[in-house]
Amino acid sequence: MNLEELYNTYSLDLLSSRALLIDKMNSLESAQISCINCSGVCCTQSKNSMQLTLVEALTLYMNLKFKNILNDELILKSAATIKDARIDQKIYVKNRELRRNYTCPLFMFKALGCPLDKDHKPYGCLGFNATTSGVKEGENCQSDLGLLKEVDETYNTKIAQINAILANALSTENFKMTIPEAIVFFNDFESKNC
Ligand code: SF4
Ligand code: SF4
Repeated sequence: MNLEELYNTYSLDLLSSRALLIDKMNSLESAQISCINCSGVCCTQSKNSMQLTLVEALTLYMNLKFKNILNDELILKSAATIKDARIDQKIYVKNRELRRNYTCPLFMFKALGCPLDKDHKPYGCLGFNATTSGVKEGENCQSDLGLLKEVDETYNTKIAQINAILANALSTENFKMTIPEAIVFFNDFESKNC
């Protein structure tokens, strides 16, 4: 299967799993609690260390393709982010990989803020929101751990099954990757398999 077929078969099935998080975000926005006045610090190296599972990574990548945002500039920017943030230099502490902070290559890319559609965003990005209005530098923001746990408990079995299928189809043992790694990984996959 090519990436579009994998997306149609597996990612589409999970788009609705973001509904709870999107509803929460929409209700915050209705209460004037939004990111509108903020510099977007949660997407930058000072705060962001987002990692995605394979199906989240595929969903993100295909959204970029469908929106015509994926181009050489973004691929190069992603590769530079991997190098600059030393994401490719894996360090393990007590058998756990040390997460690297990095500025998301999608941040302010061809759009104010994030160019992804909400139903294609990583769960962690959707679950991190302001808790008061007028936030300027992320001063009152946090992850809604309760809601993320609820989504995880509802969908984790299905997500794990899909990730196993994708790992096999994509010939990778990398079940988790950062956003720039996802962009480079799927672009490489397409280059080799076209
Ligand atoms: S995907 Fe969007 S919301 Fe998530 S870190 Fe990147 S720019 Fe920010
Ligand atoms: S979630 Fe918080 S830190 Fe991130 S852009 Fe919105 S207001 Fe700023």
